[in-house]
Order: sequence, then C-alpha cells, then structure tokens
Amino acid sequence: MIVVLKHNVPQAKKEQLITWLEHLGLRIHVSDGDYQTVLGLIGDTTQVDMDLVASLEIVDSVKRVTEPFKCCNRKFHPDDMVVEVGDVKIGGGHFALIAGPCSVESEEQIVTVAKAVKASGATLLRGGAFKPRTSPYDFAGLKAEGLELLKIARAETGLPIVTELMNIMDIPLFEDVDVIQVGARNMQNFDLLRELGKLDKPILLKRGLANTLKELLMSAEYIMANGNERVILCERGIRTFSDYTRNTLDLSAVPMLHELTHLPVIVDPSHATGIARIVPPMALAGAASGADGLIIEVHNDPMHALCDGAQSLRPEEFDALAKKIFAVREIVKA
Ligand code: PEP
Ligand code: MN
Repeated sequence: MIVVLKHNVPQAKKEQLITWLEHLGLRIHVSDGDYQTVLGLIGDTTQVDMDLVASLEIVDSVKRVTEPFKCCNRKFHPDDMVVEVGDVKIGGGHFALIAGPCSVESEEQIVTVAKAVKASGATLLRGGAFKPRTSPYDFAGLKAEGLELLKIARAETGLPIVTELMNIMDIPLFEDVDVIQVGARNMQNFDLLRELGKLDKPILLKRGLANTLKELLMSAEYIMANGNERVILCERGIRTFSDYTRNTLDLSAVPMLHELTHLPVIVDPSHATGIARIVPPMALAGAASGADGLIIEVHNDPMHALCDGAQSLRPEEFDALAKKIFAVREIVKA
C-alpha cells in the first residue's frame, strides 16, 4: 500500500502517522521527494483501514499496490537509483562498462586484461573466482586465490572488481570485493539473497535462466527488504526455443524493468549469445535499449580460456566495440 502525503506536511505529523502505522505491524519506507512524501507500507496491509488513512488531514491519497515487490518498486521511488562503487556511479544517467574474463586464471592474465579494458574505457573489472559450472569436471575457478589476483589487478588499474559469490559460507572472503555478483543459477537462492541483504555492498543480481521479470524483482526485494538497497539488475539472456545462440537476450526487459523499478539495469551480451562475433551487435543493442551498463567477457587468449572462450572478445575487439558503445550512448542520452 502506498500513502502519498500532502505538500509541506509538518514533520511531527508525519512521524505521528508513521508511528501509528508501525504499531499496526508494518515497516514503512519513506521516500521524500521535492514536492511530496510517499510512504511505502511493507507487510500485511490487510489490517489497514484504507478509508481511515485516506481521511486523515495530511494524506493526499492511498493506493493498494498490486505488485508484491515494494522496496524496488518505481512507484515508491520515482527517481532512478544511482549505485556508487567508489568513484564509479551506475544508473540515473551514469553508464557502467564492466569487462574482463569469465574466470580469473593467473596474475598475468587478469592484470593484462584489466589494463587493456581500462585503456578502452571500462569502468569496472569482472572476473570469476568461484565458477558455477554445469559439469563437475570443468574448471571451477581459483577460488580465494582468484580473489587475491583480482585485488592485484584492481591495485594495478584502479578498476573496482565485480565477482560472483555462490555460497553463504564464502561471504567473509568477499569483504574486500567491490561488487558481489549473484549468478543466474543462484537468482532464487533465497537464503543467500537474505544474507547479502545484510551487507553494505552493491549486489549485481543476474536474471535466472528461466525466470520472469517479476521473479527477478522479487529476488531483488529479498536483498533490499533485509537492508541492502544497492542492487543492480542484469539481463543475461533466458532459455527459449531459439537454437543457434546460447540464450535469448530479452532486451525488452530493459525498458520494462526501468518502468517497474528504480534500480539500474545492465545487459550481459556475452552469456546471452555465447558467440563472440554476436556479442558486439547485441552489446550495441543493449546500449541502445537504454541499459545503465554492459558486462562483457574479454580474454587475452580466448582459444586457451579455461571458461567461456567462445564468447570472449579479444582486447582489440573490445576496444573497437567500446568506441561504438560510447557513440550509441551519446545518441541514447540526446
Ligand atoms: C558469469 O558471469 O560468468 C556467469 C556465470 O554468468 P551467469 O550467471 O549469467 O551465467
Ligand atoms: Mn562466463
């Protein structure tokens, strides 16, 4: 339920109303805009007498929200959320270019790629240390050592690091990571999401292979309802009957999510397509769709990559693409 207050309501009256609503067992999310204050009532609102609330002197209007997501609902937050990662901003007109290998393989590899993507204009470095692999026999990442190598690459380039966490038990290892990625396969690992909600760190939440936008938003809600509002959504392709690409990039998700939520939305054309030569056109399409960023796999030697070589761009290919991405962004901004 949403309660919109009248313009210029005295603070004391506002607090009185909030206290009363809290006594009904609800949590209140307060959004103070320039002109109006909007209260988002979280919890079982069936106990709230809508007519009674609407009749209060300080209340402008009351609406029942049909969507089950509240913390990430655009209706409560008319302004775009800007997620800050050090000096880097994502969302609200700030575009993030995240690039790096699928997996961290060695110091030389991650530092070489980090320097190259930085020179091309990347703003964050990606690299998996804990890898979810379909086969238990495949390379599953360097784990804690991989995180250390990412930190070395960060120290060499200044790029904040984005890396995937799969297990609650590993959370302490991620203390010095800038952005924690929740991969597609863990989008509905609700215990993990709840724990990430207790951290003071941005979370990059990828859409599951077969999940709806509402389910993605409900997963963001798990993180936010536990206290961590800094969530970035990622469209990375879903399973359909399309047979020549790894997944189907659902680009309409970007403008639709922008309508539904104030959270930044980025696009991953690498996992969406699985084919390096298809990545550039879909990256440009992602930028054109209004995404707040892109996450792209780049490897210095894709032929020998331990994971996802087929979809990885070489640094020089990424460099050429980055120039076009920035050009498309200019048009989208105009
Ligand atoms: C990844 O980013 O390397 C990854 C495994 O992504 P996803 O969870 O989207 O498959
Ligand atoms: Mn990958």
